[in-house]
Amino acid sequence: MRKTITDESLRLLINSLIKEGTRVVAPKKAGAMTLYAPLAAGDELTLDSLPRRSAKEAFFPLCENILAYRKDKDGVKIKDIDPASFPETVLVGARPCDAAAPAILDAVFSWDYHDEFFLERRRKTTIVGLACTVADDACFCPAVGLSPSDTTGSDLFLTPLTGGGYACEAVTGKGEALLAGHSRLFEEREAVQPLPPAEPQQEKLDLARIKEWLDGHFEDPLWEEIASRCAGCGACAFLCPACHCFDIVDEGTEGKGVRRKNWDACGFSKFTNHASGHNPRDLQNKRYRNRIMHKFKYYHDKFGQTLCTGCGRCVRGCPVGIDIRAVLEKINERG
Ligand code: SF4
Ligand code: SF4
Repeated sequence: MRKTITDESLRLLINSLIKEGTRVVAPKKAGAMTLYAPLAAGDELTLDSLPRRSAKEAFFPLCENILAYRKDKDGVKIKDIDPASFPETVLVGARPCDAAAPAILDAVFSWDYHDEFFLERRRKTTIVGLACTVADDACFCPAVGLSPSDTTGSDLFLTPLTGGGYACEAVTGKGEALLAGHSRLFEEREAVQPLPPAEPQQEKLDLARIKEWLDGHFEDPLWEEIASRCAGCGACAFLCPACHCFDIVDEGTEGKGVRRKNWDACGFSKFTNHASGHNPRDLQNKRYRNRIMHKFKYYHDKFGQTLCTGCGRCVRGCPVGIDIRAVLEKINERG
């Protein structure tokens, strides 16, 4: 027997969660795009394509206030934002490349400094993953060890069925709790026929070989060859489910204001600019080198993981056509 849910019941589940006070984040239409965003009702759910941006905003918003300050005659008063106030959240319809990313990021956000803004959202979020049945020519999750039906990172996993609806697999205790709390919306079915999974074209990359080359080639003419045309726009980092750099700035007047955490990107020319004016990554190809080194060497050295889930968003979004797969293949050839 397999647990299943119809499309209609999935939307009722969302309505029911919202009514209980749970924030539901899922793909929805935003003009011509589909984006992961908080839903007001189950009818807004749009599962027909990979959202343009990743789901990382559910855990790591593009901009967020981390404290407010006010100065008066008695001195400066600080008002902290308490992460305990963050709402319980269910992220519905996360594709395997998006569902896998937060678990990769847990390592860096709970390393020397525990980032409670990220970690509290992680604790309070249940991820309902969704298998992909269609891939476009930029998808390459199998090349980095995932797959269109990979349950890594999901708490509950949905697989589309022929004839409509989804098979539901509880992957963790959080997923079991979601099933148990709304059992009337799920059915037990004896025979189900899943739609065939998507088949991204990319061959598997030899990540060990790529890392070995990166270990010994911090300086190499290849960096200029592949990255001199990078425009430093940061789109690849902002679209990526695994990029996680941020800046902290104070915004306001002398009398009052907020401290904000904003996404940043190592592709930006000021990212490593020192107060002295010296910039150790003074050329764009050095910034792009850092992007590749961070994803396929440094993060692996530090945490034993690759900082890429093969979602293909940087391939689709790069305005100058830099394709990370071609870059990795070039490195593979040299390894
Ligand atoms: S590096 Fe590119 S393909 Fe890999 S996870 Fe980030 S956006 Fe997706
Ligand atoms: S999206 Fe392309 S041009 Fe923009 S920073 Fe990334 S690699 Fe460079």
